[in-house]
Amino acid sequence: MANKWDERKKALEDEYFVKKEKELIEKLKAKQDKESKQSLKQICSMRCPKCGEPLKERSYQKIAIDQCTGCGGIWLDPGELDQVAKKDEGSWLGKFWGKEK
Ligand SMILES: [Zn+2]
Repeated sequence: MANKWDERKKALEDEYFVKKEKELIEKLKAKQDKESKQSLKQICSMRCPKCGEPLKERSYQKIAIDQCTGCGGIWLDPGELDQVAKKDEGSWLGKFWGKEK
């Protein structure tokens, strides 16, 4: 009888570990999916929408901005222009941004 019980217990344990393993694999897959999507987005956002050349991050008044290595265009993330304008209120940009708002 003890053997039967041991077998049953073993089967249950196996089932448990298989399930756990499946969960782990699924979790890992989801994580990889998310990461690959993120890195894809990152690559896309690092390209100039105008000429397709890679963007290089540089800082303007301590704000990180992306400048195109091809056409020299500057790209700002949402909120960054706001930050630049705020820091530079006396400039045309600050005035322009203040007016537009
Ligand atoms: Zn460009």
